[in-house]
Amino acid sequence: MNDLRDLYQEVIFDHNRSPRNFGMLEHPTHQAHGVNPLCGDELTVSLVLDKDGVIEDLRFEGRGCAISTASASIMTETLKGLSVPEADRYFDAFHAMATGETPSQTDLPALTKLEVLSGVRDYPARVKCATLAWHTVRSALRNASASVTTE
Ligand code: ZN
Repeated sequence: MNDLRDLYQEVIFDHNRSPRNFGMLEHPTHQAHGVNPLCGDELTVSLVLDKDGVIEDLRFEGRGCAISTASASIMTETLKGLSVPEADRYFDAFHAMATGETPSQTDLPALTKLEVLSGVRDYPARVKCATLAWHTVRSALRNASASVTTE
């Protein structure tokens, strides 16, 4: 278990050091800004939905703690290429894992890469760091332009 924790930390540090899909898209179809005042995490998610409702491109920009940055980085890798309903299923699965709650629906996708963030459920204050990017992308998908706060 300790080995696994070390591995998880290693992955989180790596994503924090070199976040994937970092930056803003020039012509996003959807965009949202999210803040977690408790920790000071702040990020903007921009994405392009193609005509079939598939997330063609997805990026984030902002600053925050290692958990929020790593979570946003892995989120962009996970959701790129998915349809909105598929992205929603990942949101539910991730939210359930991070909060330790039982998911409201069954048959959710396996989280593989996102497992590295499962440790946050033991630290309630960190749950908001881990879920910020997910709330923000969900908000972006619901409204073309929006902002969310965890408080
Ligand atoms: Zn944070």
